[in-house]
Amino acid sequence: MENTIALSELTNSYIQKEEQFGAHNYHPLPVVLNKGEGVYLWDVDGKRYYDFLSGYSAVNQGHCHPKIIAALIEQAQKLTLTSRAFHSDLLGEYSEYITKYFGYDKVLPMNSGVEAVETALKLARRWAYDVKGVAENEAKIITVEENFHGRTINVISFSTDPTAKKGFGPFMTGYTTIPYNDLAALETALQDKNVAAFLVEPIQGEAGVFVPDEGYLSKAYALCKAANVLFIGDEIQTGLARTGKMLACDHENVRPDILILGKALSGGTLPISAVLADDEVMLNIKPGEHGSTYGGNPLACKVAIASLQVLKDEQLAEKSEELGNYFRAQLEALNSPYIKLVRGKGLLNAIVVAHADPNAAWNLCLELKENGLLAKPTHGDKIRFAPPLVITKEQLDECIAIISKSLQALA
Ligand code: PLP
Repeated sequence: MENTIALSELTNSYIQKEEQFGAHNYHPLPVVLNKGEGVYLWDVDGKRYYDFLSGYSAVNQGHCHPKIIAALIEQAQKLTLTSRAFHSDLLGEYSEYITKYFGYDKVLPMNSGVEAVETALKLARRWAYDVKGVAENEAKIITVEENFHGRTINVISFSTDPTAKKGFGPFMTGYTTIPYNDLAALETALQDKNVAAFLVEPIQGEAGVFVPDEGYLSKAYALCKAANVLFIGDEIQTGLARTGKMLACDHENVRPDILILGKALSGGTLPISAVLADDEVMLNIKPGEHGSTYGGNPLACKVAIASLQVLKDEQLAEKSEELGNYFRAQLEALNSPYIKLVRGKGLLNAIVVAHADPNAAWNLCLELKENGLLAKPTHGDKIRFAPPLVITKEQLDECIAIISKSLQALA
C-alpha cells in the first residue's frame, strides 16, 4: 500500500536523499516535516498534521513551546558548554530546581535516555558493592521481558526483542529477566542475595503501551524494599505528565530509589536526561568514575528548568489525565471491528489493530497521514496515540473523527 500513496516530487526528493546518504536503521512514514507548533506539524508541501507521536513523548509541552524556545535562544547566545572540567553558573541552580521538583537529594545529568539508563545501572552496581556488600563482579540486575531501555550493547543485552539484538553479540552478563507484571516471578528472583536492583518501566511504552495491573508497582517496590534491592524507575517515556501524573509511579505512590528521566525534560529541543537518587546511592560514584562532555551543560540546564516549569504552569499532568480518560472512552465508543483493544493512561495510549492483513496497522497509519494525523505502528499490530499534552478537547474531537474515518478505509 505504501507504493500506492502518491508523494509529491519534493517529498520524494528529500526521502531519496536520506535513503542514499543516511543509514537505514529506521523505517519512517513517508512524510517530510519542516515545521512544528503546539500539536501541529507541517510537511514540505505545506500540509498540516496533528502529531500523535510527540517525538516518542519528548514533545509533551508541544512543538517549539515559546517559553522553552525563549530559554534556549537566550542561553545559546550567552554560554552553551563548559564541560564539567569547570563549574557553570547554572548547574547548581538546575540541580537544586530538579531535585526539589522531584524530591531527591541529588541529580546526575546526562544527555540521551540510554545514557541515563546506563548511569542508573552503574549507580546500582556501585551501591551493591559499596553499601549492600555484594562481592565484586557478582551484582545482578533484574529486568523484565518486552522491556525497552535504549540501544547500547549493554542495554540490549537484557532486551527480549530479537530485532534489537540479532547480530550484535556478545552481550553483557549480570541480568536476570523475568516476565513483566508478575510479582511471583519477582519475589523468586529477589531471593538471590546478589541482586542490586530491579529495573522497570511503569508502563511499557515501546512494547505497545502495556499497562501493568493496578498494584503491581507498589507491590514490586515493597518486595524490593524487603530484599534490600533498589527499585529503578525508567520514566523516560512515561514521565513528565504523559500518563496523567507527573510520574507514572505517582499513580501508586511509588518513589523509585533511582529515577530516570529524559525526552520531555527538554520539550523536544535537545537531548537532556537525568538520574535522580538520594545520597546513599549517588555519592558512591566519585570524581572521574563517570561523566559526559555535554551532561549538565548550561544550555541544557536552562532548557530543562523551562521545560519542567511549563509542565507545572500549564497543569499538563491534570490535562493529560482528564483528556486521556475522554480519549479512551471515545475510541471505545467507535466500536470499530478493527480495534481489538484500547489501552493506556493519561495521553499515553495505544490501540491493537484487528485485521487479517498483517500490514493493517501500517496501512492505517498511512491513511491517518492522508487524513492529517501522524502516528506510527509499534511491534506490528499496535499504534501508539500520544499527542502533545497541550492539545485541547476540541482538537482531540477532531482527531477522533480522523481516526474514525481512517479506520473505515480498512474495510
Ligand atoms: N527508556 C525508555 C523507557 C524509552 O522509551 C526510551 C526511548 O524510547 C529510552 C529509554 C531510550 O532513550 P533514548 O532514545 O533517548 O536513548
